[in-house]
Amino acid sequence: MSNSELRRTSELQLLEMAQRFFDAAADQLGLEEPLRELLRYPKRKLTVIFPVQMDDGSVRHFEGYRVQHHPVLGPTKGGIRYHPQVTIEEIEALAVLMTWKTAVVSLPLGGAKGGVRCDPTQLSLGELERMTRRYANEISPLIGPDIDIPAPDLFTGEREMAWIVDTISMHHQGQYMPGLVTGKPLVLGGSEGRDTATGRGGFFIAQETLKHLKRSLKDARVAIQGFGKVGSNLAHFLQQGGAKVIAVGDVRGGVKNEAGLDIAALQRHVKESGSVVEFPGSEAISNEDLLELEVELLFPAALENQITVDNAERIKAQMVIEMANGPTTWEADQLLYERGTLVVPDILANAGGVTVSYFEWVQDRSFYFWTAELVDRRLKRVMVKAFHKVLTTHLQHRVEMRTAAYMVAIDRVAQAARARGLYA
Ligand code: NAD
Repeated sequence: MSNSELRRTSELQLLEMAQRFFDAAADQLGLEEPLRELLRYPKRKLTVIFPVQMDDGSVRHFEGYRVQHHPVLGPTKGGIRYHPQVTIEEIEALAVLMTWKTAVVSLPLGGAKGGVRCDPTQLSLGELERMTRRYANEISPLIGPDIDIPAPDLFTGEREMAWIVDTISMHHQGQYMPGLVTGKPLVLGGSEGRDTATGRGGFFIAQETLKHLKRSLKDARVAIQGFGKVGSNLAHFLQQGGAKVIAVGDVRGGVKNEAGLDIAALQRHVKESGSVVEFPGSEAISNEDLLELEVELLFPAALENQITVDNAERIKAQMVIEMANGPTTWEADQLLYERGTLVVPDILANAGGVTVSYFEWVQDRSFYFWTAELVDRRLKRVMVKAFHKVLTTHLQHRVEMRTAAYMVAIDRVAQAARARGLYA
């Protein structure tokens, strides 16, 4: 299969998987058919095709998307990704996941996602800025601080968010609108703690998961697949909390040290060399073997579809905490549940990022900014409360943590939809 065929299969799988998880939870909840019908479809899907002037004077057209899944609880929220193979199906699946993610942590938001089909590594800084500003202009009828609030995702960050907020603010007589996007630089109304929020949230979830299983973080053996923004921060917090991070991997390979890797030194090594591989004092390990290590905690923090029917039987971790979106397939999830492995699903485990994004939006709306300590305390409160709500549902209904998380999320959205009624 070619790369693009593989990617298409995985997009369809993502959408299909999100649908399967939804159906399983909706069955458990006994969700009425009209509500299933209502929540199955996104509210808006926008495709835009727009011209950008390139540095050599030529004009190229780009295709971009914005999908809003469900705004029943409040404005929609979700990142914007730049990728050569991004499609509307992928964006739709991710928008749906955002609805359940925001609902499981009880944020007053719905889900959305956006993207532009481009290879950002092949664009100059000027081309990237002109493309970003033009895309922002094209989706401007759909976004706004009270409607839909974008954020960074693959290949976008603070810089792109600053361009977007500037572009739209210029359409409003230059009136600065910081609540329009999150993930902005601090000086433009970003939030303390946003850059480490997903890893920090995963750390709180790990603490609660261990407590539930009457285990301690001290000396717990940990393996992490992915050492980017999420994986490296998570590794730092886990080590600070007393855990032994014995293996981490990135796209080029993995490293292992039974005595525990020195995460600060590893972060310096990655900064200098661009990868974890050849970290002094460690032995090499493949990404496949890393997933199958005998550890208490395994964190997939890189890509989707990493734990599948092909390797699920060999996963020896007692707990799998999903930091990446969609790292475990439906079938593998069932296998792990039957074997007694506790899998904390992505929509709960990696919701720390959107939670602090929500905090950023709240701060922007009042023009009053919180300390890093306050952000951290409030993040912990949200994550711990959501974890216990999901855990209680898991225990009461005897379903996987994933189905329990979807049940909590769908129930919240369904309650709001019932209360509002259908305006038909
Ligand atoms: P990132 O780009 O900063 O890091 C990704 C890491 O995964 C890198 O270390 C990369 O080398 C590694 N990787 C890529 N391909 C790999 C492969 N084939 N095998 C092993 N490792 C591989 O991305 P990130 O922001 O850390 O995001 C990681 C995951 O977490 C993604 O699935 C993302 O969607 C999800 N996520 C991120 C956030 C956030 O706030 N950044 C929030 C929610 C979910």
